[in-house]
Amino acid sequence: MTGQKQGLVDVAIIGAGPAGLTAAYLLSKKGYRVSVIEKDERYVGGISRTVEVDGYRFDIGGHRFFSKSKEVVDLWNEILPNDFIQRPRMSRIYYEGKFYSYPLRAFEALFNLGIVRSTLCMASYAKAKVFPNTKVRSFEDWTVNQFGHKLYSIFFKTYTEKVWGMPCDENVGRLGGAAHQSA
Ligand SMILES: Cc1cc2nc3c(=O)[nH]c(=O)nc-3n(C[C@H](O)[C@H](O)[C@H](O)COP(=O)(O)OP(=O)(O)OC[C@H]3O[C@@H](n4cnc5c(N)ncnc54)[C@H](O)[C@@H]3O)c2cc1C
Repeated sequence: MTGQKQGLVDVAIIGAGPAGLTAAYLLSKKGYRVSVIEKDERYVGGISRTVEVDGYRFDIGGHRFFSKSKEVVDLWNEILPNDFIQRPRMSRIYYEGKFYSYPLRAFEALFNLGIVRSTLCMASYAKAKVFPNTKVRSFEDWTVNQFGHKLYSIFFKTYTEKVWGMPCDENVGRLGGAAHQSA
């Protein structure tokens, strides 16, 4: 627990992941008294934390900083002025013996999937565009609307459930920020 050790605070933040820490940082800068309550006894950072084992440090996931928002990039540079290492990025999904770029590239994915499944993917994509789900409540709903059910079931469902450890059809309200991802 950081922030005020005694007395009242203006804001109590639950969770010392990137969201909680950023909120605490920005609120503190504005003069609010803030406490961050974290259930992990050892680490802050949430699922972007770095853990230490036998003196070696491991990031949970290959975390990269990328944002189109100047405000966000400025904040990162403010906090970590000299700590960024620029690296070319390449993420790929290994599926049925083939590599697929992640984020997916449509033509590459269709080519790798072969004519039958590509056709099914395109038909399913067209269906999603013509008849979109207007009551989007879960990551599944959102992804199916964007890519069609076939591509969702092949890539997004398995990848997302493995990385986030929760079902894609959970209500977004319960998933919170997990309904969109940038990894
Ligand atoms: C493998 C992997 C790779 C990723 N790669 C990238 C990447 O390259 N770039 C990128 O931008 N994002 C990446 N992400 C996503 C990124 O890690 C998350 O978006 C980010 O960590 C979410 O931050 P958060 O603060 O919302 O939640 P979390 O990181 O989940 O933090 C929540 C915190 O709240 C604490 N908490 C929960 N419940 C309680 C409670 N009841 N009381 C007290 N504390 C509580 C938890 O212990 C945790 O510390 C990746 C994620 C994974 C899993």
